[in-house]
Amino acid sequence: MMLAVREQADLRTYNSLGITEKAERLAEVGSDKELRLALDMARRNGWPVTVLGGGSNVVIAGPLRGLVVAMRSRGRKVLQRSAGSVLIEAEAGESWHDLVNWTLDLELFGLENLSLIPGTLGAAPVQNIGAYGVELQDVFHSLDALDRDSGEIRQFDRKACDFAYRESVFKRLPGRYVILRVRLQLRRQGSIRVDYAPLDRAWEATGLQRPDPRVVAALVCQIRRSKLPDPAQLGNAGSFFKNPLVTAHQLDALKTLYPGIPHYLQPDGRYKVAAGWLIEQSGWKGVREGNVGVHALQALVLVNHGGARGDDILSLAARIKEDVQHRFGLLLEMEPQRLG
Ligand code: NAP
Repeated sequence: MMLAVREQADLRTYNSLGITEKAERLAEVGSDKELRLALDMARRNGWPVTVLGGGSNVVIAGPLRGLVVAMRSRGRKVLQRSAGSVLIEAEAGESWHDLVNWTLDLELFGLENLSLIPGTLGAAPVQNIGAYGVELQDVFHSLDALDRDSGEIRQFDRKACDFAYRESVFKRLPGRYVILRVRLQLRRQGSIRVDYAPLDRAWEATGLQRPDPRVVAALVCQIRRSKLPDPAQLGNAGSFFKNPLVTAHQLDALKTLYPGIPHYLQPDGRYKVAAGWLIEQSGWKGVREGNVGVHALQALVLVNHGGARGDDILSLAARIKEDVQHRFGLLLEMEPQRLG
Protein backbone atom coordinates (compact mmCIF):
# COMPACT_ATOMS: atom_id res chain seq x y z
CA MET A 1 0.00 0.00 0.00
CA MET A 2 1.33 3.39 -1.01
CA LEU A 3 0.67 6.63 0.76
CA ALA A 4 0.82 9.92 -1.15
CA VAL A 5 3.15 12.36 0.60
CA ARG A 6 3.40 15.88 -0.77
CA GLU A 7 6.48 17.96 -0.11
CA GLN A 8 6.45 21.67 0.71
CA ALA A 9 2.66 21.62 0.77
CA ASP A 10 0.81 24.91 1.12
CA LEU A 11 -1.29 24.81 4.30
CA ARG A 12 -3.62 27.70 3.44
CA THR A 13 -6.62 25.47 2.76
CA TYR A 14 -5.79 23.28 5.76
CA ASN A 15 -6.47 25.96 8.41
CA SER A 16 -9.60 28.07 8.84
CA LEU A 17 -7.56 31.21 9.56
CA GLY A 18 -6.35 30.84 5.98
CA ILE A 19 -2.70 31.34 6.90
CA THR A 20 -0.17 30.52 4.22
CA GLU A 21 2.65 28.42 5.60
CA LYS A 22 4.36 25.34 4.29
CA ALA A 23 4.33 21.81 5.63
CA GLU A 24 7.64 20.12 4.93
CA ARG A 25 5.54 17.05 4.06
CA LEU A 26 1.82 16.40 4.11
CA ALA A 27 -0.23 13.20 3.86
CA GLU A 28 -4.00 12.90 3.84
CA VAL A 29 -5.07 9.68 5.55
CA GLY A 30 -8.44 8.03 5.04
CA SER A 31 -8.22 4.97 7.28
CA ASP A 32 -6.52 3.50 10.36
CA LYS A 33 -4.19 1.65 8.00
CA GLU A 34 -3.09 4.79 6.20
CA LEU A 35 -2.59 6.55 9.51
CA ARG A 36 -0.31 3.76 10.69
CA LEU A 37 1.62 3.91 7.42
CA ALA A 38 2.14 7.65 7.84
CA LEU A 39 3.22 7.34 11.46
CA ASP A 40 5.59 4.44 10.67
CA MET A 41 7.13 6.43 7.85
CA ALA A 42 7.63 9.39 10.18
CA ARG A 43 9.16 7.21 12.90
CA ARG A 44 11.60 5.55 10.49
CA ASN A 45 12.73 8.93 9.18
CA GLY A 46 12.72 10.78 12.48
CA TRP A 47 10.11 13.29 11.31
CA PRO A 48 8.04 15.13 13.90
CA VAL A 49 4.30 14.64 13.28
CA THR A 50 1.47 17.18 13.42
CA VAL A 51 -2.07 15.85 13.16
CA LEU A 52 -4.70 18.17 11.69
CA GLY A 53 -8.47 17.76 11.51
CA GLY A 54 -10.24 20.71 9.93
CA GLY A 55 -7.56 23.12 11.16
CA SER A 56 -10.25 25.32 12.67
CA ASN A 57 -8.65 25.73 16.06
CA VAL A 58 -4.99 26.32 15.24
CA VAL A 59 -2.71 29.26 14.59
CA ILE A 60 0.11 28.22 12.27
CA ALA A 61 2.95 30.52 13.20
CA GLY A 62 5.75 29.13 11.04
CA PRO A 63 6.55 26.31 8.64
CA LEU A 64 5.67 22.86 9.99
CA ARG A 65 8.65 20.55 9.99
CA GLY A 66 8.37 16.81 9.48
CA LEU A 67 5.03 15.35 8.47
CA VAL A 68 1.57 16.88 8.70
CA VAL A 69 -1.14 14.24 8.79
CA ALA A 70 -4.57 15.46 7.69
CA MET A 71 -7.35 13.19 8.97
CA ARG A 72 -9.75 12.47 6.11
CA SER A 73 -11.41 9.19 7.18
CA ARG A 74 -15.14 9.06 6.41
CA GLY A 75 -18.08 6.94 7.45
CA ARG A 76 -20.96 7.06 9.90
CA LYS A 77 -23.44 4.50 11.13
CA VAL A 78 -26.06 3.67 13.71
CA LEU A 79 -24.63 1.11 16.13
CA GLN A 80 -27.55 0.51 18.43
CA ARG A 81 -31.15 1.57 18.88
CA SER A 82 -33.01 1.32 22.15
CA ALA A 83 -36.36 2.68 23.26
CA GLY A 84 -35.02 6.07 24.29
CA SER A 85 -31.72 6.50 22.52
CA VAL A 86 -29.57 5.76 19.52
CA LEU A 87 -25.84 5.13 19.59
CA ILE A 88 -24.01 6.40 16.51
CA GLU A 89 -20.42 6.03 15.40
CA ALA A 90 -18.49 8.09 12.87
CA GLU A 91 -14.93 8.40 11.61
CA ALA A 92 -12.67 11.22 12.75
CA GLY A 93 -12.42 12.92 9.34
CA GLU A 94 -16.17 13.50 9.02
CA SER A 95 -17.20 17.14 8.96
CA TRP A 96 -18.81 18.02 12.29
CA HIS A 97 -21.65 20.00 10.78
CA ASP A 98 -22.47 17.29 8.20
CA LEU A 99 -22.66 14.81 11.05
CA VAL A 100 -25.01 17.11 12.98
CA ASN A 101 -27.26 17.32 9.91
CA TRP A 102 -27.24 13.55 9.48
CA THR A 103 -28.42 13.07 13.08
CA LEU A 104 -31.14 15.68 12.53
CA ASP A 105 -32.31 13.76 9.45
CA LEU A 106 -32.56 10.71 11.72
CA GLU A 107 -34.78 12.87 13.96
CA LEU A 108 -32.41 12.61 16.90
CA PHE A 109 -31.99 15.09 19.75
CA GLY A 110 -28.63 16.15 21.14
CA LEU A 111 -26.48 17.94 18.57
CA GLU A 112 -28.84 20.74 17.48
CA ASN A 113 -27.16 23.45 19.60
CA LEU A 114 -23.78 22.48 18.16
CA SER A 115 -24.80 23.19 14.55
CA LEU A 116 -22.41 24.99 12.20
CA ILE A 117 -19.30 24.54 14.33
CA PRO A 118 -16.41 24.26 11.86
CA GLY A 119 -13.97 21.37 11.93
CA THR A 120 -14.02 17.60 12.01
CA LEU A 121 -15.57 15.09 14.38
CA GLY A 122 -12.14 13.86 15.47
CA ALA A 123 -11.19 17.30 16.70
CA ALA A 124 -14.43 17.80 18.64
CA PRO A 125 -13.44 15.80 21.76
CA VAL A 126 -10.01 17.43 21.93
CA GLN A 127 -11.46 20.67 23.18
CA ASN A 128 -14.92 19.39 24.18
CA ILE A 129 -16.60 21.76 21.72
CA GLY A 130 -19.56 23.67 23.05
CA ALA A 131 -22.13 26.29 22.16
CA TYR A 132 -25.41 27.60 23.53
CA GLY A 133 -25.22 25.70 26.79
CA VAL A 134 -24.39 22.27 25.32
CA GLU A 135 -21.00 20.59 25.23
CA LEU A 136 -19.83 17.50 23.39
CA GLN A 137 -19.45 15.67 26.70
CA ASP A 138 -23.26 15.85 27.19
CA VAL A 139 -23.79 13.37 24.34
CA PHE A 140 -20.42 11.65 24.30
CA HIS A 141 -20.33 7.85 24.63
CA SER A 142 -16.77 6.76 23.79
CA LEU A 143 -14.00 6.97 21.22
CA ASP A 144 -11.14 4.95 19.76
CA ALA A 145 -7.73 6.54 19.64
CA LEU A 146 -4.35 5.35 18.52
CA ASP A 147 -1.79 5.63 21.30
CA ARG A 148 1.35 6.77 19.51
CA ASP A 149 3.55 5.59 22.38
CA SER A 150 2.39 1.97 22.38
CA GLY A 151 0.97 1.73 18.84
CA GLU A 152 -2.23 0.28 20.28
CA ILE A 153 -5.80 1.37 19.76
CA ARG A 154 -7.36 2.34 23.05
CA GLN A 155 -11.00 2.96 23.88
CA PHE A 156 -11.86 6.00 26.00
CA ASP A 157 -15.16 6.39 27.80
CA ARG A 158 -16.36 9.79 28.98
CA LYS A 159 -14.53 9.54 32.28
CA ALA A 160 -11.22 8.63 30.62
CA CYS A 161 -11.47 11.71 28.37
CA ASP A 162 -11.49 13.90 31.49
CA PHE A 163 -13.54 16.62 29.80
CA ALA A 164 -13.71 20.16 31.14
CA TYR A 165 -14.53 23.57 29.62
CA ARG A 166 -12.74 23.44 26.22
CA GLU A 167 -10.42 20.79 27.71
CA SER A 168 -9.73 17.07 27.64
CA VAL A 169 -6.95 14.57 28.18
CA PHE A 170 -6.19 14.90 24.45
CA LYS A 171 -5.52 18.61 24.77
CA ARG A 172 -3.42 18.08 27.88
CA LEU A 173 -1.26 15.41 26.23
CA PRO A 174 -0.77 16.87 22.75
CA GLY A 175 0.62 14.42 20.21
CA ARG A 176 0.04 11.33 22.33
CA TYR A 177 -3.27 10.10 20.90
CA VAL A 178 -4.81 10.27 17.44
CA ILE A 179 -8.61 10.07 17.60
CA LEU A 180 -9.89 7.58 15.04
CA ARG A 181 -13.67 7.41 15.57
CA VAL A 182 -16.22 8.71 18.02
CA ARG A 183 -19.48 7.31 19.39
CA LEU A 184 -22.30 9.56 20.52
CA GLN A 185 -25.45 8.68 22.44
CA LEU A 186 -28.38 10.68 21.11
CA ARG A 187 -32.00 10.80 22.26
CA ARG A 188 -35.06 9.84 20.23
CA GLN A 189 -37.26 12.32 22.03
CA GLY A 190 -37.02 14.79 24.82
CA SER A 191 -36.41 18.36 25.56
CA ILE A 192 -34.44 21.14 23.92
CA ARG A 193 -31.96 23.54 25.52
CA VAL A 194 -32.75 27.14 24.70
CA ASP A 195 -31.61 28.92 27.86
CA TYR A 196 -29.07 31.18 26.08
CA ALA A 197 -30.75 34.55 25.59
CA PRO A 198 -30.52 34.92 21.77
CA LEU A 199 -31.63 31.33 21.23
CA ASP A 200 -34.42 31.65 23.78
CA ARG A 201 -35.75 34.77 22.04
CA ALA A 202 -35.58 33.13 18.61
CA TRP A 203 -37.36 30.00 19.86
CA GLU A 204 -40.09 32.03 21.60
CA ALA A 205 -40.65 33.93 18.36
CA THR A 206 -41.46 30.70 16.50
CA GLY A 207 -44.48 30.17 18.79
CA LEU A 208 -43.88 26.41 18.64
CA GLN A 209 -44.80 24.30 21.65
CA ARG A 210 -43.38 20.91 20.73
CA PRO A 211 -39.58 20.59 21.04
CA ASP A 212 -38.10 20.20 17.58
CA PRO A 213 -34.33 19.83 17.27
CA ARG A 214 -34.39 20.71 13.57
CA VAL A 215 -35.97 24.06 14.31
CA VAL A 216 -33.43 24.73 17.08
CA ALA A 217 -30.59 23.82 14.69
CA ALA A 218 -31.94 26.23 12.06
CA LEU A 219 -32.13 29.01 14.66
CA VAL A 220 -28.60 28.31 15.88
CA CYS A 221 -27.36 28.51 12.27
CA GLN A 222 -29.20 31.78 11.78
CA ILE A 223 -27.74 33.33 14.97
CA ARG A 224 -24.23 32.11 14.24
CA ARG A 225 -24.35 33.37 10.64
CA SER A 226 -25.47 36.79 11.85
CA LYS A 227 -22.45 37.20 14.18
CA LEU A 228 -19.68 34.88 13.16
CA PRO A 229 -17.63 35.18 9.98
CA ASP A 230 -17.68 32.24 7.55
CA PRO A 231 -14.06 31.00 7.40
CA ALA A 232 -14.47 30.50 3.65
CA GLN A 233 -14.96 34.26 3.32
CA LEU A 234 -12.94 35.68 6.23
CA GLY A 235 -10.27 33.55 7.88
CA ASN A 236 -10.87 32.94 11.59
CA ALA A 237 -10.51 30.32 14.32
CA GLY A 238 -13.82 30.84 16.11
CA SER A 239 -13.63 32.08 19.69
CA PHE A 240 -10.05 33.11 20.21
CA PHE A 241 -10.13 33.24 24.02
CA LYS A 242 -11.83 31.21 26.71
CA ASN A 243 -14.25 32.94 29.06
CA PRO A 244 -12.39 33.62 32.32
CA LEU A 245 -13.80 32.16 35.54
CA VAL A 246 -13.85 34.32 38.67
CA THR A 247 -14.82 33.78 42.31
CA ALA A 248 -17.92 35.47 43.80
CA HIS A 249 -15.55 37.77 45.67
CA GLN A 250 -13.71 38.81 42.49
CA LEU A 251 -17.01 39.33 40.72
CA ASP A 252 -18.27 41.68 43.47
CA ALA A 253 -15.15 43.79 43.07
CA LEU A 254 -15.59 43.88 39.28
CA LYS A 255 -19.29 44.78 39.60
CA THR A 256 -18.57 47.87 41.68
CA LEU A 257 -16.45 49.21 38.82
CA TYR A 258 -18.44 47.72 35.93
CA PRO A 259 -22.07 47.19 36.99
CA GLY A 260 -22.99 45.91 33.51
CA ILE A 261 -20.44 43.10 33.39
CA PRO A 262 -22.14 39.95 32.02
CA HIS A 263 -21.62 37.00 34.36
CA TYR A 264 -23.00 33.49 34.58
CA LEU A 265 -23.02 31.29 37.66
CA GLN A 266 -21.26 27.96 37.12
CA PRO A 267 -22.01 24.66 38.86
CA ASP A 268 -18.82 25.03 40.96
CA GLY A 269 -19.96 28.38 42.43
CA ARG A 270 -17.63 30.49 40.32
CA TYR A 271 -18.81 32.91 37.64
CA LYS A 272 -18.03 32.94 33.97
CA VAL A 273 -17.36 36.39 32.57
CA ALA A 274 -17.89 36.89 28.83
CA ALA A 275 -14.47 37.36 27.22
CA GLY A 276 -16.07 39.02 24.17
CA TRP A 277 -17.50 41.74 26.41
CA LEU A 278 -14.13 42.36 28.11
CA ILE A 279 -12.47 42.76 24.71
CA GLU A 280 -15.23 45.04 23.44
CA GLN A 281 -15.02 47.23 26.56
CA SER A 282 -11.28 47.48 26.03
CA GLY A 283 -11.99 49.12 22.68
CA TRP A 284 -10.93 46.34 20.36
CA LYS A 285 -14.19 45.38 18.62
CA GLY A 286 -13.91 45.96 14.87
CA VAL A 287 -10.31 47.18 15.07
CA ARG A 288 -8.18 46.36 12.05
CA GLU A 289 -4.39 46.44 12.06
CA GLY A 290 -2.84 45.59 8.74
CA ASN A 291 -3.93 42.13 7.68
CA VAL A 292 -5.50 41.14 10.98
CA GLY A 293 -8.31 42.40 13.12
CA VAL A 294 -11.08 41.85 15.62
CA HIS A 295 -14.40 40.92 14.05
CA ALA A 296 -16.82 43.85 13.95
CA LEU A 297 -19.82 41.76 15.02
CA GLN A 298 -18.17 39.55 17.65
CA ALA A 299 -15.10 40.75 19.56
CA LEU A 300 -14.12 37.22 20.57
CA VAL A 301 -13.19 36.35 17.00
CA LEU A 302 -9.87 37.42 15.47
CA VAL A 303 -9.79 37.51 11.69
CA ASN A 304 -7.31 37.33 8.84
CA HIS A 305 -8.25 40.00 6.31
CA GLY A 306 -5.95 38.29 3.81
CA GLY A 307 -2.26 37.48 3.74
CA ALA A 308 -1.73 37.52 7.52
CA ARG A 309 1.01 35.47 9.15
CA GLY A 310 0.42 33.48 12.30
CA ASP A 311 2.65 35.90 14.19
CA ASP A 312 0.42 38.84 13.19
CA ILE A 313 -2.54 37.08 14.79
CA LEU A 314 -0.53 36.14 17.88
CA SER A 315 0.81 39.62 18.43
CA LEU A 316 -2.68 41.12 18.10
CA ALA A 317 -3.90 38.53 20.61
CA ALA A 318 -1.07 39.40 22.99
CA ARG A 319 -1.94 43.09 22.92
CA ILE A 320 -5.63 42.40 23.53
CA LYS A 321 -4.69 40.15 26.42
CA GLU A 322 -2.47 42.82 27.93
CA ASP A 323 -5.19 45.46 27.66
CA VAL A 324 -7.83 43.25 29.25
CA GLN A 325 -5.48 42.35 32.06
CA HIS A 326 -4.58 45.96 32.63
CA ARG A 327 -8.20 47.12 32.68
CA PHE A 328 -9.94 44.23 34.47
CA GLY A 329 -7.12 42.29 36.13
CA LEU A 330 -8.31 39.17 34.29
CA LEU A 331 -6.06 36.86 32.34
CA LEU A 332 -7.43 35.71 28.99
CA GLU A 333 -6.38 32.29 27.86
CA MET A 334 -6.04 31.56 24.17
CA GLU A 335 -8.33 28.83 22.85
CA PRO A 336 -6.63 27.74 19.58
CA GLN A 337 -3.44 25.77 19.60
CA ARG A 338 -0.27 27.38 18.30
CA LEU A 339 1.69 25.36 15.73
CA GLY A 340 5.01 25.95 14.01
P1 NAP B 1 -23.54 35.12 23.46
O1 NAP B 1 -24.80 34.35 23.41
O2 NAP B 1 -23.47 36.48 22.91
O3 NAP B 1 -23.00 35.14 24.94
C1 NAP B 1 -21.76 35.77 25.29
C2 NAP B 1 -21.05 34.90 26.30
O4 NAP B 1 -21.83 34.76 27.46
C3 NAP B 1 -20.74 33.56 25.74
O5 NAP B 1 -19.38 33.50 25.73
C4 NAP B 1 -21.40 32.57 26.67
O6 NAP B 1 -20.45 31.69 27.25
C5 NAP B 1 -21.96 33.39 27.81
N1 NAP B 1 -23.39 33.08 28.03
C6 NAP B 1 -24.45 33.60 27.37
N2 NAP B 1 -25.60 33.12 27.85
C7 NAP B 1 -25.27 32.27 28.85
C8 NAP B 1 -26.02 31.46 29.72
N3 NAP B 1 -27.37 31.43 29.68
N4 NAP B 1 -25.38 30.70 30.62
C9 NAP B 1 -24.05 30.71 30.66
N5 NAP B 1 -23.27 31.46 29.86
C10 NAP B 1 -23.86 32.24 28.96
O7 NAP B 1 -22.41 34.17 22.86
P2 NAP B 1 -21.74 34.08 21.44
O8 NAP B 1 -20.38 34.62 21.56
O9 NAP B 1 -22.64 34.55 20.35
O10 NAP B 1 -21.65 32.53 21.30
C11 NAP B 1 -22.78 31.70 21.39
C12 NAP B 1 -22.34 30.31 21.78
O11 NAP B 1 -21.52 29.73 20.75
C13 NAP B 1 -21.52 30.30 23.04
O12 NAP B 1 -21.88 29.19 23.80
C14 NAP B 1 -20.10 30.18 22.53
O13 NAP B 1 -19.24 29.52 23.43
C15 NAP B 1 -20.26 29.37 21.28
N6 NAP B 1 -19.19 29.67 20.34
C16 NAP B 1 -18.05 28.93 20.37
C17 NAP B 1 -17.02 29.20 19.50
C18 NAP B 1 -15.75 28.43 19.52
O14 NAP B 1 -14.94 28.58 18.65
N7 NAP B 1 -15.48 27.63 20.51
C19 NAP B 1 -17.15 30.22 18.58
C20 NAP B 1 -18.31 30.96 18.58
C21 NAP B 1 -19.33 30.68 19.45
P3 NAP B 1 -19.95 30.29 26.61
O15 NAP B 1 -19.04 30.69 25.50
O16 NAP B 1 -19.17 29.63 27.71
O17 NAP B 1 -21.13 29.52 26.18
